[in-house]
Amino acid sequence: MFSSSDRAAVLMRCGNCSQALGGLPDDTVFPCTECLTAWCLGDGELVPRAMEVFAMEEDGLAALPFWILDAELEIVRRITRMAECASPVQLPRHFEEAGERGLRETADPPRRATIFVPAFLTDRPLSLGRKVTSLELAPSGRTVRGLRAPGGCITADDGLLLAKGVAIFSETGGRTHLALLELDLRPVHLRLALVGCRAEEQGFRVAGQTLLIPYTTIADAEEIMAFSGLSREGR
Ligand SMILES: [Zn+2]
Repeated sequence: MFSSSDRAAVLMRCGNCSQALGGLPDDTVFPCTECLTAWCLGDGELVPRAMEVFAMEEDGLAALPFWILDAELEIVRRITRMAECASPVQLPRHFEEAGERGLRETADPPRRATIFVPAFLTDRPLSLGRKVTSLELAPSGRTVRGLRAPGGCITADDGLLLAKGVAIFSETGGRTHLALLELDLRPVHLRLALVGCRAEEQGFRVAGQTLLIPYTTIADAEEIMAFSGLSREGR
């Protein structure tokens, strides 16, 4: 990575292929679509990470950045209440193991998990991460050279934290009788993903999928669209 600067601007170039890198004002991650490298700001320097492309088979898509974590996921301890013990109270109630009957304890052995986390600013990172993870997207073979892709402002460290949140959210969601969950997520490999999305009237729709990400949940939706050279469909 090298840069040439004057008082007004810093031009950043990819340390692998010298392609100029751009991004939104708050971005800390800068994707190079020439050589599929993500340059990530951390401790004052830019560190390269691998990058992969998903759902990018069509033209005219925005490339939304996500972190992908390959990890080993283990459910160390899961305690569930029997259905007939369920409380009618909607809020989570205090769990006192010794004071309850009809508890069932289970555990799952370690398994490989791949977790997607938005690298852009959204007010629903965990639910969106869970939804995109559940799509089980396959890498796209299409070249994206020359595509302008925002990199996002969620750092790699924050991405790791959020990935754990997504894992917990995925395990707890929909389990109404869950009393306690102990989960261990051991990171193996963190990469950046560019996920192809169509700029529709109400939000970004993951290409080829039904999942719609409303613009109202993305802090930089308009900036991402302008940066990508797109406008909303129907306008
Ligand atoms: Zn490059």
